[in-house]
Amino acid sequence: MDAAPVVETIGLTKRYRGKLALDGVDLSVGSGEIFGLLGPNGAGKTTAVKLLLGLVRASSGQARLLGVPAGEPEARRHVGYLPELFRYPRWLTGREVLRLHARLAGLEVRDWDEMVAAALATADLAERADDRVATYSKGMQQRLGLAVALLGNPRLVILDEPTTALDPLGRHELRGIVRGLRERGTSVLLNSHQLSEVEQVCDRVAILDHGKVLAVGSLNELLSPGGVRIRATGVGVEALQSFGEVNVDGPWLLVRDLEEQRIPELVEAVIGAGGRVYGVEMLQPSLEERFRAIVGSP
Ligand code: ATP
Repeated sequence: MDAAPVVETIGLTKRYRGKLALDGVDLSVGSGEIFGLLGPNGAGKTTAVKLLLGLVRASSGQARLLGVPAGEPEARRHVGYLPELFRYPRWLTGREVLRLHARLAGLEVRDWDEMVAAALATADLAERADDRVATYSKGMQQRLGLAVALLGNPRLVILDEPTTALDPLGRHELRGIVRGLRERGTSVLLNSHQLSEVEQVCDRVAILDHGKVLAVGSLNELLSPGGVRIRATGVGVEALQSFGEVNVDGPWLLVRDLEEQRIPELVEAVIGAGGRVYGVEMLQPSLEERFRAIVGSP
């Protein structure tokens, strides 16, 4: 197993006629990692994917897939790609679609049956493989797209907004498949607007805006505790002001940005001021709140 990261970009920059679409992006995705690229419209997510797939050339900086410069055919050999919008001929069966793509990908004919069967099994489509695409639900069509991306057992699968068109059940199924990919060591790079989606499936996330990475880290790192709330009677906001900004939320007092180590001190202060404590809970901001705080949108 080679030690090179599955994806590595260093100072990756793309200008379209002078307009910066990507501005010095440094990213690294490891083996078996599910990595989310999050950002508002126009942030540069699609540009990053196009650079990795070798569909556009970088203005400066580098992008490598398994140590090979992106754009070289050898780099592409290890990548599966599920575009955001795709349609397969409705009169073909799922298996025929996969065989067609096996041919287009130049896979060895003697491997087709085995590879097609493996991709169908991973995408949980084996039972409907010989039905026509016309009879597939949207979720099944999306899983067929995923099966196409998985042909040939790539080391990296790039999924562009994979769940946008799916209902909750379809999303749940797709998440299960993506988690299964991690278990067998396939890395996934997932572009998404749906923060809740990224929250549920990604190991690490990069938040992109105006072509720059604003934050990158594991979800635990990005969702570091945002303070505590304490349910108490007999104490006013004034008694706790030395702990930071305190807000009242029904029976709760919210203390933002309080470090965990200071919670006992806070409880003591409430009791010291004559209050009674009925509950203390950590405030965990959702990724959406963090995202808004980082990109500065309302
Ligand atoms: P979305 O979520 O809307 O797909 P995105 O994060 O994928 O957005 P990109 O499509 O990468 O963003 O676009 C980044 C910036 O580059 C945008 O300002 C966009 O207008 C610009 N851009 C993208 N492609 C081109 C192009 N071919 N020519 C000129 N400008 C472009």
